Amino acid sequence: MAANEIILAKYGEIALKGLNKKTFEDILMKNLRRRLRKAGSFSVTKAQSTIYIEPREDGQDIDEALECVKKVFGIAAICRAKACEKNFEAIAELAKTYLADQLLCANTFKVTAKRADKAFPMKSPEICMELGAALLDEFPNLTVDVHDPEVTVTVEIRDTHAYIHGESIKGAGGLPVGSSGKALLLLSGGIDSPVAGYRMARRGVHISAIHYVSPPYTSERARLKVEALCQKMTAYCGNIAFFCVPFTEIQEEIKRNCPEEYFTIIMRRLMMRIAVNIATEDKCSALVTGESIGQVASQTMEGLTCTDAVCSIPVMRPLIALDKTEIVETSREIDTFDISTLPYEDCCTVFTPRHPKVRPHLEDIEKAEANFDFTPLIEKAVAETEMKVFKMGEEVIL
Ligand code: ATP
Ligand code: MG
Repeated sequence: MAANEIILAKYGEIALKGLNKKTFEDILMKNLRRRLRKAGSFSVTKAQSTIYIEPREDGQDIDEALECVKKVFGIAAICRAKACEKNFEAIAELAKTYLADQLLCANTFKVTAKRADKAFPMKSPEICMELGAALLDEFPNLTVDVHDPEVTVTVEIRDTHAYIHGESIKGAGGLPVGSSGKALLLLSGGIDSPVAGYRMARRGVHISAIHYVSPPYTSERARLKVEALCQKMTAYCGNIAFFCVPFTEIQEEIKRNCPEEYFTIIMRRLMMRIAVNIATEDKCSALVTGESIGQVASQTMEGLTCTDAVCSIPVMRPLIALDKTEIVETSREIDTFDISTLPYEDCCTVFTPRHPKVRPHLEDIEKAEANFDFTPLIEKAVAETEMKVFKMGEEVIL
């Protein structure tokens, strides 16, 4: 790998932003710089809706940098490029050598040119024609196809250098994390909630996570599994504040004081009340769950109505209309699936009613809860909540 290989990243939706585009760009640049620290020493600069990621010194690992950039939300396309002097001979020579592998295997190609530096003596169509001819000479296997080429050779004439690149790859899409505020994700050890967090982060939401544990019904290993999931999510979500709530006493009081058929829904309402408290403390403006309509008894319209009724902030459910197979697909893509399917218990499965009420009525639930004042226990659980921060780039502990 030659020292002058760089990465070009193009933004997606940010390009459509109007007056506040700069705010989004600044967050994206900050996120990129932070992510790339792990890969080595790279400079990150932008010009004309393109971000330039260049090694500051020799010996930097471009492959690793590319892996980091692929996970940064807000970027639509990424490509590796090489820089050369701004003269046609240097450009033609570089295109022939740098893209030889791609061009040798293809039948059709085209050249596109972008001339940001208008002082460059050749205009874009002329660059395309001349470079096309030079490549046809060099690679007799090729013919030009301007409509549907197998390889597109792109030349960009910028301020200091010319850049050559071939095909680009898809970026992570979405908006930069932090550009859409902060939300608190209810993170279980299951498949769904990490995917829900990923989805929200992809829309620019900075994620904090809350997890409820019920020792001795749930084990230390079950908690570690969730922490490992949280750590995994940092690759996409950035640093995550993780709140671990002791939930045993509340669950025992539900069991002691409420009708069995309502256990789950009442438990979920109490989870929500605690989450709203922590969200307020952590300056999160919404809750996020991995619920999907119809998946289990508590995820019916009526069930969701009952849980929403105790929330004074919005509850976002990015998976609401997804099938399990679609959720599983994403969890494999983001590499949480293997951790999620480890067989540890969750507090939701402690005291599960044999016949949960599938279509609960809010008045009945409120009546069933009225036998016991949960407020002091909620305050106690919030006070005893432990917080730690998971940071990008650290090892997954499991
Ligand atoms: P998942 O696969 O994410 O566990 P699930 O299909 O098992 O979801 P439920 O167990 O009913 O569904 O939980 C629904 C949602 O409630 C989860 O997606 C998650 O947001 C939240 N949740 C469940 N258990 C916990 C927990 N112990 N701590 C924090 N949030 C939880
Ligand atoms: Mg679960």
